[in-house]
Amino acid sequence: MTSPIFALFDPTYFLVIIGLVISMAASGYVNSTFSKYNRYRSQSGVTGTQAAQYILQQSGITDVAVQEIAGNLTDNYNGQTKVLSLSQATAQSQSVAAIGVAAHECGHAVQDANNYWPMRLRTAIVPLANIGSSASLPLIILGVILSFNQTLIHIGIFLFSFALLFQLVTLPVEFNASRRAINILSDGGLLTAAEVPMVRRVLTAAALTYVAAALATFLQLLRLVLLFGGNRDDN
Ligand SMILES: [Zn+2]
Repeated sequence: MTSPIFALFDPTYFLVIIGLVISMAASGYVNSTFSKYNRYRSQSGVTGTQAAQYILQQSGITDVAVQEIAGNLTDNYNGQTKVLSLSQATAQSQSVAAIGVAAHECGHAVQDANNYWPMRLRTAIVPLANIGSSASLPLIILGVILSFNQTLIHIGIFLFSFALLFQLVTLPVEFNASRRAINILSDGGLLTAAEVPMVRRVLTAAALTYVAAALATFLQLLRLVLLFGGNRDDN
């Protein structure tokens, strides 16, 4: 029924479009939420960098360096190099949004220091997920070309599921980092009671982009299963 040439026009392509729309909506939401709360200067008056240094110090972490990097919302923590990178907008801003983002990245550093197991699992899955996302489609296409070779197609779909697994394991890691961030900020008095819900909104919006990414990947996997996963006993 489904010719590979016409796969693009297959009704299941609708699933990919839904995933795309969800991802775009999530990214629009995080951008608008961030810019909204980037206009609120925090009562404490600390910058993102100062907040990060404070949190690391409070958490007894001495082997992590804080640096400034270019880009928009490029903030990240690298567990291999022990470098916490804050984008300029986060590093130099005194807004509640910037402090929240900086604290979230510190949350990852704390996870790393505490050997938080979902983070370890996530790191362990990275190579599999990379193989999965790069090799699965070529294998499926090759399988289709070789008159619907079921073994190749099923291996391709199986490999793609590692990309989804990676994104699912990312979710607890991201939510937990934000939870740690908010706790440390409110315990340390860096945020007032009124500012805590603002930071929570910013970090929830950021976490939703990971939910959207996982959902989009799930829809792509579902599409592959619908298109190629069935048994073609006639071959
Ligand atoms: Zn994160």
